[in-house]
Amino acid sequence: MKICKTYETETAHRVLNAESIRCAQGPHGHSYKWEIEIEGPINPDTGMIIDFGSLKPIKQMIDKFDHAYVFWQKEDPEIIEFFKKHFKRLIIMKQNVTAENMARWAHRWINLWLSSNKKGRYKINNIKVWETRTGCAVADYSTEEDQLIYVHEEP
Ligand SMILES: [Zn+2]
Repeated sequence: MKICKTYETETAHRVLNAESIRCAQGPHGHSYKWEIEIEGPINPDTGMIIDFGSLKPIKQMIDKFDHAYVFWQKEDPEIIEFFKKHFKRLIIMKQNVTAENMARWAHRWINLWLSSNKKGRYKINNIKVWETRTGCAVADYSTEEDQLIYVHEEP
């Protein structure tokens, strides 16, 4: 049995090394949709896999991407320093800022959260990150590489 929860963020980036010049050289944003699918047995006492209300920590983590600029750590350090100095809400990822890597980051973080909260009966089936209305990446695995380096939020 599976449940699905959807979150939305407005997030800016550029994709270094992208084939498209617009993506590689033009800072731009997307209306991202994050679909989190959790799989597990139904608790006979509650009739639920997991209470949607207990998923708030996932919402709080994904919300860090809302109205944020996300960098790959290989971005020009001068640009990152400029943003750190003049703007709030920026994130630095260990990997390039693609829907694939965002989905894998969320996959890893939620897996860690589920295991650290003794919610081990559940696992992530997959995570979809929709970058446009018609295109998404689906992560069904993650590794230690899938992490954030730095999160600068509003004070
Ligand atoms: Zn883009």
